[in-house]
Order: sequence, then structure tokens, then C-alpha cells
Amino acid sequence: MADQIIIKNLEIYSNHGVYKEEKVLGQKFLVSAILDTDTKRAGVSDRIEYSVDYGKVCRRIAEIMENNTFDLIERVAETLAKSLLLEFPLVKSLEIQVKKPWAPIGIPISSVAVKIHRGWHRAYIGAGSNMGDRLEYISKAIEQIEEQEDTKVVHVSSLIETKPYGGVEQDDFLNGCIAVDTLKEPMELLDFLMDLEKQAGRKRMVHWGPRTLDLDILMYDDRVMNERELTIPHKEMHKRMFVLEPLVEIAPYLMHPLLHKTVIELKETLEEELANERVNQNTTGN
Ligand code: ATP
Ligand code: CA
Ligand code: CA
Repeated sequence: MADQIIIKNLEIYSNHGVYKEEKVLGQKFLVSAILDTDTKRAGVSDRIEYSVDYGKVCRRIAEIMENNTFDLIERVAETLAKSLLLEFPLVKSLEIQVKKPWAPIGIPISSVAVKIHRGWHRAYIGAGSNMGDRLEYISKAIEQIEEQEDTKVVHVSSLIETKPYGGVEQDDFLNGCIAVDTLKEPMELLDFLMDLEKQAGRKRMVHWGPRTLDLDILMYDDRVMNERELTIPHKEMHKRMFVLEPLVEIAPYLMHPLLHKTVIELKETLEEELANERVNQNTTGN
């Protein structure tokens, strides 16, 4: 478990709310935050540059709340979380609570609050292209990911030439993998990647057919999810050499949360399976 810096009930007078009076007259808000960070270095050295300056954090929270007017405390909390995660790199994740002690709802209430947990996540993205200027489509996508303020590209694998997968007759692919640190939640990341595919002129015609750009989420922390639009880890990643070969280059010891194997082990297993398949084909052919 990470160390924490805990800020409790910071009082800020500001103007958020759906009602006109709230916007004009304002009211007192109480903000609490738990910052997940590593305090050991600061604890041992007693030097502020190794820690998160909570005075600065509090002043920043006040500044953001005083300089904006939002309808919802959800939005206040979201804005605070994003700004703090971007501006204080030692904070890996945080919990923010925005409380309205005197919410004007017409009946007595002791307080109402929104509490959210946000943080940096490591995701691995598989990129592929087999139409047009393949290198350009993939490079452009990496650039566009890098341009996002809430996403940093940490590793890019080499790009490899691969034969198409899945039985549709088409040109060879260029494939690679990218590691990113991102504040986007999985569905948000998927929407963003699909938008980049669209901008690259991707049309969905044949399943597993030719495409200018394909961006798949391979892994997201050690998250496991299976929803209609998004399965993590990617269902087929362990069966695809064009995924494992570049991935092993940038994340050899990354652990598959369901198969409990590292990427190196997944690749070795797949190599064995493919070798066995070839032997079987040869013997049945004789
Ligand atoms: P494959 O997913 O087997 O590599 P594909 O990339 O050709 O096939 P697409 O047509 O690009 O398939 O995507 C079909 C749908 O897959 C997307 O609309 C998306 O909702 C869904 N999907 C599910 N899991 C993922 C994932 N991990 N990454 C990207 N898309 C996913
Ligand atoms: Ca794919
Ligand atoms: Ca895809």
C-alpha cells in the first residue's frame, strides 16, 4: 500500500451550484484529499523537494475553486483531481471529496459530498496498419497520443512486418506496441483510440479485414473487464505473435492477470504451440 498525505476539510468559499443564488452569492465548501505517494525518501532525508508540498496543494485547490464556476460538485472534484495529478508528479493517485455543508435543497441536511478516486494508469496499446502509408498512420497516432495532456507515451516498440491474421486475403501488416501512462479510464481510452482510427479514415467493413489504423487496448494496469464494447486484457493477445513480439520488447515481465504468465512466458508458450501445429500439419500431410 502506498503512503498517503491526508488533507481534511479545507474551507473554501466559492460559487458552484445549479441555482443562481449559489453562483452569485456563493457558499462554503469543504475539500478533503488523500494523496497516494511515496513519502519514504522525504521521510529519510527531511527535504521538501522529495515530497508533495501540501501547502501548495491546498493553495492550488483554493485557486481552482475560486477561479471557476461549475454547476456540479462532480465537475469540481474531477477538475481538482486532474489538475493535481498533472501538476504534482509525485502523486500517483488520489481521492478527492468535495462537500457542500449547506446544500440548498429546501429541507435540513447536514452535508452532501462527492468523493472520487483518480490516478495514473499504465496501459499497453497494440497498433497495426495494412493500407496506404502504414508507417505514417502509426507514427501519426503515436504523435496524437503524445499530444494529449492526460496521456504520456512511455515506450514504443519497433514496428514489425507481419502476415495477416484471421484468414482474410489482404496486404501485410505493420505492427507495434506502445506503453502509455494515462489518466483516462478504460472506456475513455477506447473512445479516444477509436476516434484516432476514424481520423485515419478507418472504415469497418470485413471483420479482421484491411485497415489504415487499428488501435487495441491490450492491457490496462492489472484490470480485468469484460463488457460489450471492451474486454481487457485483449481476448486474443496471447494467440498473436504480432502482439507478443513487440510487447516483449517493451514489457517482458508484464503479468497477464488471467493467465498468470509474463509476456515472455506467453510468447514462449505460443512459439511451442505454433511449432507443434507445424509438426502436426507435416505428419497429417504424409
Ligand atoms: P480484434 O479485436 O480481434 O483485434 P479488430 O481489431 O479487427 O479485431 P475492430 O473492428 O477494430 O476489431 O473492433 C471491434 C470492437 O472491439 C470495437 O468496436 C471495440 O468496442 C471492441 N473491443 C473489445 N475489446 C477491445 C480492446 N481491448 N481494444 C479495442 N477494442 C476492443
Ligand atoms: Ca485488432
Ligand atoms: Ca481494434
